[in-house]
Amino acid sequence: MNGKSEATGKVSLRFPLKERDEIENRRREDAPLSAPNTEGNVWPKQVCPAFEPRTGAPEGMRQCWYCRCADFHLNKPRSLDVGVCYWPKKTES
Ligand code: SF4
Repeated sequence: MNGKSEATGKVSLRFPLKERDEIENRRREDAPLSAPNTEGNVWPKQVCPAFEPRTGAPEGMRQCWYCRCADFHLNKPRSLDVGVCYWPKKTES
């Protein structure tokens, strides 16, 4: 099977279930938020309209990872893969 339907001429991409789930999860983790996810999990590449860059954030980089309200344990020996949003509280000292 070449992934192309004879009847419609459309190409269908088929991924194994595990791979498809990983792709879906990645999309969700990178998806922008419409509002701060206060007291909830945030993934590094997410961002919301309340983003406020912490000190040292690269110019123009708008991601929860660089937000003053996110806690990714950046001051600990090991940072977190998934952070917590504490908006409107600033986690940066
Ligand atoms: S950490 Fe910052 S950018 Fe991310 S959801 Fe919270 S307020 Fe918005």
